[in-house]
Amino acid sequence: MIIKKLELNQTVPSPVCVSCDTCCHFPSQDSLMAPIFTHKERKRVIEDGFSPDLFDPTDDGKSSRIQLRAYDKMFICPAFLPETGECSIYPIRPLDCQIYPFVITFDENHKQVLLCIDEICPYTEIEISKFYRDSSQVVAFLESDTVMLEIAENWSLVGLRLETATVICTLDRLTSYLTQTINH
Ligand code: SF4
Ligand code: SF4
Repeated sequence: MIIKKLELNQTVPSPVCVSCDTCCHFPSQDSLMAPIFTHKERKRVIEDGFSPDLFDPTDDGKSSRIQLRAYDKMFICPAFLPETGECSIYPIRPLDCQIYPFVITFDENHKQVLLCIDEICPYTEIEISKFYRDSSQVVAFLESDTVMLEIAENWSLVGLRLETATVICTLDRLTSYLTQTINH
C-alpha cells in the first residue's frame, strides 16, 4: 500500500527532541493530550501491527484516542520505545504528533479555530520567534484541501484551549470549512 506522505518541516531541531523527554509522556492515563488518530491513521497503524483494542472512540465518531500505558511513574504512548526514546511508528505517526508542539484548538466560544503552541515544549522558551516564523507553513499545511478534509471528518482533533497553550494565530479558512461541514 502506498502511503502519501504529508510534508511538514519540523520547527524543533531533531537533536533537541532526542535529548528531551516531554513528548510521548503524559501525567495521567486519561490525559486529553494523548494523541488522536484519524480513522485513516488508525487503520494504517493497525495494518502495521497495532492492536485495535489500543484505541478509544472520540466524540466525532471517526477518530480515536490512543490508550496510554503506565511507565516509570508516568504514562506513555504505546508506540513510544523508552529504551531508545524513539517513536516506533514515526513515518506514519498521526497528524496530531506531526504538528506538535503546534496544537489546534477552538476558542472559548467554540466558534473559531486557533493555531497555538504548547509551552510545555521547552524549545518554545528558547526560540519562540521561530514558531511565529514557521507558523505560515503550518497554516498552509493545515489549510490545504487534503488536511482540512481529514480534520473535518475527524474534528475531535480540534481540542479545547489548554492552559499551557499560547495562541499564534487564527485559522480562518479551516474555521470556515469546519463551520460548513460539521454541526456542533
Ligand atoms: S517537547 Fe518539544 S523539544 Fe521536547 S520532544 Fe517534544 S517537540 Fe521536541
Ligand atoms: S505516536 Fe509516536 S510521536 Fe506520537 S505520541 Fe506516540 S510515540 Fe510519540
